[in-house]
Amino acid sequence: MSDCIFCKIVDGNIPAKKVYEDNDMIAFHDIRPAAKVHILIIPKLHISSLLEVNDSHQELLGKMMAKVPVLAKELGLNDGFKTNINTGLAGGQEVFHLHVHVYGGGPASN
Ligand code: 5GP
Ligand code: ZN
Repeated sequence: MSDCIFCKIVDGNIPAKKVYEDNDMIAFHDIRPAAKVHILIIPKLHISSLLEVNDSHQELLGKMMAKVPVLAKELGLNDGFKTNINTGLAGGQEVFHLHVHVYGGGPASN
């Protein structure tokens, strides 16, 4: 079984406050929100970081990015929001399963 905490969330083995799910991705609230609204959008496929992304992931990443404004608006972030992908140890990544942070509703503390 995978040691990856986000794979466990995908598999339902760790609970998360989900805001969206389809065949390719899930989105859920960050457990330690750094802003009033702070969600993470992750692929169901385990990709450890943006460093591992290749051409075969183009469609998946496109779908994830296209979902960002949809979810942001659903969460009331109509005036804008901040997105962030931490990549690798040097990029401050802590969970090595690719994820897009979406922050809004007030200043992000990162
Ligand atoms: P990173 O630094 O890797 O870009 O960010 C990882 C994020 O995942 C952090 O903001 C952290 O709060 C969040 N996180 C870590 N473990 C869990 C968890 O078990 N559940 C949820 N919902 N978020 C988590
Ligand atoms: Zn994973």
